[in-house]
Parts: sequence; C-alpha cells; structure tokens
Amino acid sequence: MAFFNVAHLHISFGGLKAVNNISFDVQRNEIFSIIGPNGSGKTTIFNLISGIYRPDEGRIVLEGENMVGKTPDRIARKGIARTFQNIELFANATVMDNLMLGRHIHMRTGIFGGAFMFGSRSRAAREEVAHREKVERIIDFLELQSVRDQFVGGLAYGKRKLVELGRALAMEPKVMLLDEPSAGMNTEEKDDLTIWIKDIRDDFQVTILLIEHDMNMIMGISDRVLAMNQGREIIQGAPGEVQRHPEVIKAYLGE
Ligand code: ADP
Repeated sequence: MAFFNVAHLHISFGGLKAVNNISFDVQRNEIFSIIGPNGSGKTTIFNLISGIYRPDEGRIVLEGENMVGKTPDRIARKGIARTFQNIELFANATVMDNLMLGRHIHMRTGIFGGAFMFGSRSRAAREEVAHREKVERIIDFLELQSVRDQFVGGLAYGKRKLVELGRALAMEPKVMLLDEPSAGMNTEEKDDLTIWIKDIRDDFQVTILLIEHDMNMIMGISDRVLAMNQGREIIQGAPGEVQRHPEVIKAYLGE
C-alpha cells in the first residue's frame, strides 16, 4: 500500500458535491500537487485530510492507518501538519515563540509551565531544551537567525511565510499540507519558495501535498499532479501530462 492513500472520497454540502469520488496515492517524500479553478474542492480535500470535515464516504490512510473519524488534534499527532492560505501566526509573538508553538503537540507538559506543578522540574527543563534545540535547527535551516527574536507582525511577507513553514516543520510531520503557499508572492519570491519546499522535503524527509495556482511553480516542483474541476478529477499524472490535458487547458484559460 502507498505511504499515503486517499480512496473514493466524497463530501456534499447541501446539494453540492464539493468532493466527488477523489482517489490518489502519494509515495513517501513525494511532492504531490492539487490544481483546479476556484471552488473545485481543493481546500475541502485538505479539510477532510486534517479532520476538520468528515467525509460522507471514503478512506484517508497514512502508513496503513485510517485517519477518518479522528479529531484534527489526533491527526496532527499522527504526523499530518497543515499551513493555511491566510497566515495564522501570532503577530505579537517572536519567531522563536511561534515555532515553539509548533512543538506543543509533542509536549507532555503543556507549553505554559504546567510541568512545574505536576512533574519534576528538571525533567520539564530537559524537555524544554530538547524542544528548543529542534526549533533552533529549523531556524538555522530557514535562515531566520537574524529575526528569531523579532515579532512576526513586523516581518516582511516572504519571511512570515517561511515562519509559517517553520511552524509546521516544528511539528515534525510526516506529511505537510501546504495551501497556496505562494499566494501574494512575486515571481522571485515564488522561485525562492520552490527551492525552500524542495529543500524541506529533502532535508526533513517529509511528504508534501500542495495546493497551488501558479502553473510555473506546479511544473517546477511537483512529482505528480491531480487536476480537479467541480469536485471531480480531470486527470492525475506527471506534471507535463496534466498540463497538456485539454480540459486542464480549458479550465485554466477559463473558457
Ligand atoms: P477550492 O479550494 O478548490 O477553491 P473549496 O474546496 O474551497 O474549493 O470549495 C469547493 C466547494 O465547496 C465550493 O463550492 C465551496 O463553496 C463549497 N464549500 C466548501 N466548504 C463548505 C462548507 N463548509 N459549507 C458549504 N459549502 C462549502
């Protein structure tokens, strides 16, 4: 069985079939992209995978374990991390603190010092050091050292996006769901982001599911692509093959 497998996923809202019989397999360390016009069901797939919605039908399986019916928190602990289309970082907290929040799912003791009341102080302190070391590695990797103690709210957009990726990475995920990470970026920033995402895949050994509009980025980054329209699959396969499909061309040109 594939590392990550989605099979016959369905969900309707009222009469609208937002996701209509979607299936795909993703191999470990692949970058798998989902494309399609607005309203085609891409974000709904992410909401299903991360447990925000429960499918009417279908399976979502990570390393042989079905995720359907688990809470979003449990799914995150199983190793599926998510970033959002609109940045949801804590603007009035530092880069370091935002990344430490990404570690909270691995903390037995809670982030606000509960351990000092219930556990041994030294154990809590040791855990804290271990978490900080993991976050420091991410800060180094993403070249955020110079801004590590700055408030996120004051950072340039591209840097905030990196912090967002960093926070997801701090969860030590097996799978990262990236929802339009290049939204609002210029061409140069998109090129940089493409390199960052590939480096993250290679260095942290994560599997990446990506929702993206920018066709250049899709072509440059994806191992495989699923193209959707109105909840259904148009085609899935290698990026070049998907890009040449007449229905994809039509959907993208908006004819
Ligand atoms: P995309 O991400 O491809 O732009 P979405 O997954 O956001 O598309 O939406 C697919 C369709 O499902 C849209 O028609 C949207 O309005 C609808 N939809 C998504 N979530 C809900 C919801 N919670 N309630 C009602 N309709 C929804």
